[in-house]
Amino acid sequence: SSFEELGLPKAINDGLLAMNFKKPSKIQENALPLMISDPPRNMIAQSQSGTGKTAAFVLSALSRVDFSQSTQPQALLLAPSRELARQIQGVIQTIGQFCDNLIVEAAIPGSISRETGVRGSLVVGTPGTVMDLVRRRQFNVSQLKVLVIDEADNMLDQQGLGEQCLRVKGLLPKDIQILLFSATFPDKVMAFARKFAPNANEIKL
Ligand code: AMP
Repeated sequence: SSFEELGLPKAINDGLLAMNFKKPSKIQENALPLMISDPPRNMIAQSQSGTGKTAAFVLSALSRVDFSQSTQPQALLLAPSRELARQIQGVIQTIGQFCDNLIVEAAIPGSISRETGVRGSLVVGTPGTVMDLVRRRQFNVSQLKVLVIDEADNMLDQQGLGEQCLRVKGLLPKDIQILLFSATFPDKVMAFARKFAPNANEIKL
C-alpha cells in the first residue's frame, strides 16, 4: 500500500516525499488508519525500534493539527529523556516542513522562555517539565487533541514517571486521544496502559 491511500493531508505527503519515504512500514500501514480515523480512538502499539514507529506517531499527531487555526498547542508528545524529546522534535520538523506555520517546541528543562511560555502547535517534552509549565500557566493545554507517549514501557513502568504521566493526563482535556508506543509491553505495563488509554485499539507486531 502507499501513503496516498492513507488519506494524510497534502502537506504531510509532501514532507514524506522530501524524506524519500516511499511506502509505509508495517506499523505505519497497520496503525495509521486506526489512529487518524474519526472519531479518534486510543491506541496501544507495540513495535520494535527501527520499524518506523516514530514516524507512525508523528504522522498521526501532525494530521490531527489544524494549522489554519488556533496558535495554541494541539498535540503533546511525551518522552522519558530530553535527548529523545529533541530527536522526536527533529522528526516532526522534517516530516512537517511543508505544514503552514509549523512550530514544534521542546518542553524540556531550560528550553521554554518564562515570558512567552509555550507557543508551538506541537509540543514534545518530558513529563516533569510539562507539568511545571502547565501549573505555572505557561502552557495552555485547552486545545490539545492528542497525547502521544513514546517508550511507554519506561514511561508507564517506573513508579515516578508513571505517576507523573498520570498527573499530566489529569491536567488535559478529558476527551484527548491517547497513543501509546513501545518496543515492549510487559504485563504490568500493559495493565497500566489499558487504564491509561481506555478502549484502545491494540497492535502488536
Ligand atoms: P524508528 O523505528 O522510529 O526508530 O525509525 C527507524 C528508521 O526508519 C528511521 O531512520 C526512519 O527515518 C526510517 N523510516 C521510518 N518510516 C519509514 C518509511 N515509511 N520509509 C522509509 N524509511 C522510514
